[in-house]
Amino acid sequence: MADSTKRESLEADVVTTLNGGNAEELQQAYLASHDDRTVRVILLLVAMEAEAMPMVTALGLHADEPAVIAPPAPCHSFSGEHGGAQVHLVCFGKCKATGVDNVGTVPAALTAYLAIQAFKPDIVISAGTAGGFRSRGAAIADVFVSTGMVNHDRRIPIPGFDKYGIGAFDAVPTPRLQKALSLKSGVVTSGNSLDYTAEDMARMVQHEAAVKEMEAAAVAWSADLFACPVFCIKSVTDIVDGERPAQEEFLENLHKSAEALQRVLPLVVEFISGKRISEL
Ligand code: SAH
Repeated sequence: MADSTKRESLEADVVTTLNGGNAEELQQAYLASHDDRTVRVILLLVAMEAEAMPMVTALGLHADEPAVIAPPAPCHSFSGEHGGAQVHLVCFGKCKATGVDNVGTVPAALTAYLAIQAFKPDIVISAGTAGGFRSRGAAIADVFVSTGMVNHDRRIPIPGFDKYGIGAFDAVPTPRLQKALSLKSGVVTSGNSLDYTAEDMARMVQHEAAVKEMEAAAVAWSADLFACPVFCIKSVTDIVDGERPAQEEFLENLHKSAEALQRVLPLVVEFISGKRISEL
């Protein structure tokens, strides 16, 4: 098989797992590998402080003192109760060398691992901003729920490693949540750049990505080690398949998008709290 044909069939497999099937079938398949536990402890993982602090306020959380996750881990945690659930929010902290937020997959995997170990959540939510695909119905400040998480910038054309590179994970199926809050849904694709190459774009299109960001697939990888259910709530700051560069739109819309998250996140927490995984 030619390399491009082989890749297309591998990508087609990935898309079928992430997007395929009806709600009932998806939930049954998911429960074959995950406990149908009741959601009592919720862990929110958020990369940037500007995204995290409005959520901390909206959920009425307080900084954990002394720190639950000890230095030198750079992350910060906030805890409290909301809607009957115990809620922990962990943001990734600042880069030692530059002082900016620790965005991207490396801090995401580290923070997710340490936070799941420390807080033993029933479910993990990767929350934050993302670029949205207009071709998949995304508009600025829309809030999306993930159906799956995948990487678009890990190209390893060696048998076995090709699939590892794509690193696709199913999100916990949430058909009732999506309907109750009228949220859009789709595949979240992650990579370590705010922009993209032509090859990244080809993969994002093949994966039928609805939103593009820099952390979700890494959070999903860590959550999978613990067999902990995970999904994403992502608010759109910029249009990936639009005319303007992401950084321009990102800075312009960060505030609007953070407000949308601040409004929706408490409703998501209230909806999932006390429900079983099969009821989401
Ligand atoms: N310029 C920003 C840096 C943000 S980095 C600043 O000055 O603060 C981008 C962050 O937003 C990451 O956490 C990523 O997950 C998310 N993000 C939003 N839009 C994105 C896009 N189009 N592509 C990749 N990541 C995006």
